[in-house]
Amino acid sequence: MATTTRGRMAQAGTVRTFDSLNPATSEPVATFPVCGEDEVSQAVARARAAAGWWSGLGWKERRIRLLAWKSYLTRYIMRLAELVHAETGKPVADAQLEILLAIVHIDWAAKNARRVLGPRRVRSGLVAINQASSVEYHPLGVVGVIGPWNYPVFTPMGSIAYALAAGNAVVFKPSEFTPATGTWLADSLASVIPDHPVLQVITGFGETGQHLARSGVDKIAFTGSSRTARKVMAACAENLTPMVAECGGKDGMLVAADADLDAAADAAVWGAMSNAGQTCIGVERVYVVQDVYHTFLEKLTERVGRLRPGDDREADYGPMTMPGQLEVVEQHIADAMACGGRAVAGGLGSIRKPYVGPVILADVPETSAAVTEETFGPTMTVSPVADLDEGVRRANAVRYGLGSSVFSRNRRAAMRAARALRSGMTSVNAVIAYASVPALPFGGVGESGFGRIHGPGGLREFAAAKAITRQRMKPMVNLTSFSRTDADLKKIMTVATMLHGRRYTPGRGRRAR
Ligand code: NDP
Repeated sequence: MATTTRGRMAQAGTVRTFDSLNPATSEPVATFPVCGEDEVSQAVARARAAAGWWSGLGWKERRIRLLAWKSYLTRYIMRLAELVHAETGKPVADAQLEILLAIVHIDWAAKNARRVLGPRRVRSGLVAINQASSVEYHPLGVVGVIGPWNYPVFTPMGSIAYALAAGNAVVFKPSEFTPATGTWLADSLASVIPDHPVLQVITGFGETGQHLARSGVDKIAFTGSSRTARKVMAACAENLTPMVAECGGKDGMLVAADADLDAAADAAVWGAMSNAGQTCIGVERVYVVQDVYHTFLEKLTERVGRLRPGDDREADYGPMTMPGQLEVVEQHIADAMACGGRAVAGGLGSIRKPYVGPVILADVPETSAAVTEETFGPTMTVSPVADLDEGVRRANAVRYGLGSSVFSRNRRAAMRAARALRSGMTSVNAVIAYASVPALPFGGVGESGFGRIHGPGGLREFAAAKAITRQRMKPMVNLTSFSRTDADLKKIMTVATMLHGRRYTPGRGRRAR
């Protein structure tokens, strides 16, 4: 058996296997096969057959089964939470919270799929007044989901639940760090739907994910780093397979002078440090209006002083799940200090493998990697700004654009800043609140990816729009016929000129308010 940086691998005959390891103890959690190209294409073939049955079931029957799955997950939440704790190291209570959010999303997707995707009449307009027009959304077939390890239930569920509710079958490649969690999820759905593999798991490393991206599935839903997203996109390009990419972030928080500083400090600390900072929508940078900068820093340092990473039930957060990330965290802290930043809490000494104590870096130049790159550790940079406008400018100056937050008691100013922040999602006077609202779209811009999961857009992401017109009566003038006459065209041009040819005057025709 060989030990790799990412776990232990073994070869028994022709079957390669690997262990998922507990990051706190390095003890193996369970052993899984490394699925090769054949196993992946066999899983996709089985999924294709299951997709036919699943889409044929109809909205009501799918909803019944998905809600039964939701109920199963709720009843067995502790078992799954213990498994997530073992594979990621996060506290069991945090794992429960994560699963609870996933349950809320299954519920919403199951209950709203028909309303969002079912047939809907649309107005035909004057030119096509003789047509009855409708749009409906058909399942794509088989969706490949490639997931990360940091929220191994919540994150892939944002694609899995919505893809299933839209009538697709799913082949899921969990991260090599969390294969037991992924397998548990598929097994739990199989206990509700025993005869048709609508959700299958293929385990392995990045190569297994590559096979899935190349397998001819109808869409890939990828969540992970921007670097890997590029490789997955290149593989998808070979078959013109569409892709949704949920990538990394470098989320900024703005704190106005009139903000509730205790609430903002509490949220910043939780947003930056919970899950050991391994959160795509975690707080990585804080911009505080100068007048309250020093008070805010004091509140932050006082709060992080009470935090303790560990593997016991009382620990505030766990170890770094992926050993390699420790190096990135170390480099970012070192770079911040080398270019003039100050560690106002913790520092390089906070790195005690596999744990990292909380680190707050102040006055770090905006060019430092600690400000421009995703750190993915329990650290944050804090900088003073003249006002919210400067905060927005600096928050927007990175390549990422996933989430963000604003703290201010002035509703108008907060909403203005929220709209100006270049990110897919913003929460005002809270952190990551949008992730718990299933009706809201989730996703980013720039290096944070494209496409949306969650909400109506998340259902449509896994469906193809189908437009249908049904001729209700003969047209007054048949324009799509070689028997069309010049007089026919003249008639239609007269009507068009009346409707569209008048000189456009802004505001004319609107009711006075
Ligand atoms: P990675 O990009 O390393 O891996 C993501 C997934 O892709 C894993 O399942 C991985 O498998 C797989 N993979 C790796 N290489 C390839 C490849 N060449 N082809 C196909 N699949 C491949 O990300 P992490 O797992 O380390 O997750 C952390 C990242 O995810 C962070 O950047 C974080 O911000 C982001 N993230 C984004 C979220 C969002 O919603 N926007 C949510 C959560 C995390 P394996 O692990 O086996 O190598």
